[in-house]
Amino acid sequence: MQFRSVKGMNDILPEEIRRWHGLEQTFRRIVELYGYAEVRTPLLEQTALFVRSIGETTDVVEKEMFTFERGKESLTMRPEGTAGAARAYVEAAVHAREPVTRWYYAGPMFRAEQPQRGRYRQFYQAGCEVFGDPGPICDAEMIDMLVLFLREAGVVELEVVVNSMGGSTTRERYRAALVEYLRPRASELSEHSRRRLEVNPLRILDSKDEHDRALISGAPTILDHLEDDDRRHFDGLRRALDALGTSYTVEPSLVRGFDYYTRTLFEIRSQAGELGTQNALLGGGRYDGMIKSLGGPQVPAIGFAVGLERILLAAGEHERSPLPFCCIAPIGERAAHAGLRLARGLRERGVRVELDGRGGSLKSMLRRADSSGARLCIVVGDAELERGVVQLKDLALHAQHELPLDAAAEHVVERLRAVEPAAMHEPPVGGAD
Ligand code: AMP
Repeated sequence: MQFRSVKGMNDILPEEIRRWHGLEQTFRRIVELYGYAEVRTPLLEQTALFVRSIGETTDVVEKEMFTFERGKESLTMRPEGTAGAARAYVEAAVHAREPVTRWYYAGPMFRAEQPQRGRYRQFYQAGCEVFGDPGPICDAEMIDMLVLFLREAGVVELEVVVNSMGGSTTRERYRAALVEYLRPRASELSEHSRRRLEVNPLRILDSKDEHDRALISGAPTILDHLEDDDRRHFDGLRRALDALGTSYTVEPSLVRGFDYYTRTLFEIRSQAGELGTQNALLGGGRYDGMIKSLGGPQVPAIGFAVGLERILLAAGEHERSPLPFCCIAPIGERAAHAGLRLARGLRERGVRVELDGRGGSLKSMLRRADSSGARLCIVVGDAELERGVVQLKDLALHAQHELPLDAAAEHVVERLRAVEPAAMHEPPVGGAD
């Protein structure tokens, strides 16, 4: 019997992983420049955490969670990262020692969605959360940081859209206005939306049903119902984005799939690459009520999550150059021992090394080195070892010269710098000494 991976869950094979590493490093580098520190929370949380924070009548909670019972507990594979981070923040009482906390995370999320290009059941998100800053300056700075990150990741044709969901008073007012608009049209709504009309009418705004969408396009928008404080907050966000020179559009119909959002809401899309209809690269917003609803104090918060698969689809094939690569072909056991030490010295200098320990003739080892894709091959033989030297072969130029063994690593790095300068931009993994 042959097994296949679970529907919507993909293997990432070594030939693709280099692009993932590059993207993850870019993310870490940028967010750390903005003062974020990494948090790692478990993949499993109590189901009730997601129900409470994301909202009982959201698509994610109603239909998409991977939930199972274990003993008396109901557990869920995290469908997003904010709820777990907020739970950890409250559990460790971080607010008591830090007025403002900036966290980032990266890892797999799980949602039982219908898989298609850019939509999977296990997918990777990287995200940030700021606890303790009410914005709107910090909201604008977060959006601007994301534009920088996406550019560095090689994504072009970015479109930033913003909206405000207001606070609880705005929401109550808007909810009433929306129900007033939709109730007379209820018979035209999909069955699912009709049910939501009574329990959570705002969720109808992100219905994917075509008829619903047509109806919603004529509905009043939340921006027309913003309370004064919420209006000032949104205007402040816009002024700060203008000051940064970040282009954006206000999209009054922008809603996102979780109930926890308050005030600032944003999304960044791209028309580039192979994204197709799944063109939202990331989404985020403020969730000023969540920490309190999870048993903590009143702490305002904002966060976002970016889908890493989508960035890789949007960025196309911007291959990062591979690590510089060198083979070592030792002839005999004594040479293999010297080769092991030489390999370690090279790796400390950031060079990828494959030591051919399988033995055989020099000819067969060189054939294998040739087909490995290495540029250089170091041949270590007994006679040379006696003289304290090794042979360095350039497999592209078919040239060979002798090097002193104790300076071989330095020479090889210099040589690689000359022949593969792009690859040598990588910082050394350890440090030379
Ligand atoms: P959300 O957590 O729903 O606000 O989504 C934030 C971002 O995560 C989206 O813009 C996508 O880039 C990504 N994302 C969400 N759901 C999926 C999924 N099922 N498969 C792949 N990426 C996803």
